[in-house]
Amino acid sequence: MKKRLRKYKIRYKRVFFAAAILFAGISFLYLLFHPVLLKASTIEVEINSEFKPEDQILFVLGDDKEVKIDGEVDTSKLGEYTINYKLHQYQKEVKIKVQDTKAPSITTKNLKTDMIQDIEPASFIEKCEDATEVTYHFANQEDFTKPGRYEVPIIATDQGKNETRTSAILERCEDIKAPTIEHSDKKIEFKQGLLPDFLEDVSIKDDFDENPSLDTDTSQVNFDQPGDYTLIYIGRDRSGNETQKTRSLTILKNEELNQKIVYLTFDDGPSKNTERILKILDQYDVKATFFVTGNQPSYNDWLKVAHEKGHTIGLHTFTHDFASVYSSTDAYYDDLRKIQDMVKDITNEEVKLVRFPGGSSNTISKQYFPKIMTILTKSLQDKGYQYFDWNCDSGDASGNNIPADTLIQNATACQSQYINILMHDTAAKDTTVEALPKIIEHYKSEGYVFKAIEIDSFAPHHGVNN
Ligand SMILES: [Zn+2]
Repeated sequence: MKKRLRKYKIRYKRVFFAAAILFAGISFLYLLFHPVLLKASTIEVEINSEFKPEDQILFVLGDDKEVKIDGEVDTSKLGEYTINYKLHQYQKEVKIKVQDTKAPSITTKNLKTDMIQDIEPASFIEKCEDATEVTYHFANQEDFTKPGRYEVPIIATDQGKNETRTSAILERCEDIKAPTIEHSDKKIEFKQGLLPDFLEDVSIKDDFDENPSLDTDTSQVNFDQPGDYTLIYIGRDRSGNETQKTRSLTILKNEELNQKIVYLTFDDGPSKNTERILKILDQYDVKATFFVTGNQPSYNDWLKVAHEKGHTIGLHTFTHDFASVYSSTDAYYDDLRKIQDMVKDITNEEVKLVRFPGGSSNTISKQYFPKIMTILTKSLQDKGYQYFDWNCDSGDASGNNIPADTLIQNATACQSQYINILMHDTAAKDTTVEALPKIIEHYKSEGYVFKAIEIDSFAPHHGVNN
């Protein structure tokens, strides 16, 4: 019995020993042919998690620095990616599946609507958190055509097809309340022939309709006759509820109504030419407007003379440096205040006539501050300023010493009732001064009068392009 047991033990040991050698041999052979041992041949990775291809290597027979890894995994996008591991002649591919296994986390909100509003599943979603795009649908075929309270089951599905089920309350009501109309206390008062925007300071609100209509009824106003009138604002929501609000307006007599007027304007001065320009204006007994800068204060005394002679001084820009003036709205108003202060020192008046550097239609400001002209054209007027572009261009901005004949041709080609002519008052533009007499003579012969710009004068506005 004892002998037998010993024999068995010996045999067992031998078998074990042989098996171990066999296993080691097979493993070695396997490694010889597969020198890069990887964790798995297909790997699943959750979207947006970190993935490093080198972490997949379990063992390398040889120098693991020599393993070349090819391929990329974008863990921010669902999909299947392939990574190639190469060591000398050996190569092995691993498939990486980036997947989304977590259902969206959804917060809903309840809705109260009129009978008209389209009800979309997404309207009930207050907040949604998920790694991929989520779509929503109603769990049941819903019919919201009757007033009442509905409990609405909603299913949110992400791109990994994970679903979250939730629900919200919809209250469908008949809208029987009309919208409300509000406007500022500003008195509507304008000169005959100059139509203001009646809707400028008017707002309308409705309890259900986000975009109620707002119209103006001026059938009781005789625009040809100065006097006090009433206009009616009419607001309507989409359910057909209507409201009206009346507002009084005054049309003032307009002496200029049937006049043909030229507004001569000179930008960028004062300069050594201001004196010459003033002399010509005196000779023809006409008035003009100077949109000035702060760049040549040594000539500011001529602005004082211009003001005393009844010409008006407008605000162009203190520095005329587009890059700084249009770098922000604050920068614009900073520059405007500086030129306003300078003009106040000269004229003793808080001038609110503005000409934008480059005009309101300039596109150059876009490179410094997108949409700045859209903001400034509105905010300037809200602050009580008016900006004056031009509707007649002498062309003297296109270069220096453009022949006077060319300038005359450009500046006399305009034909509207009110003409605002753009010219420049700078040292380099002598031909503008030379052209001026002929330009004045032309319009005088056409029956135009020449006026300096006032705050309520005709204000041509270019379209804003930024
Ligand atoms: Zn200018």
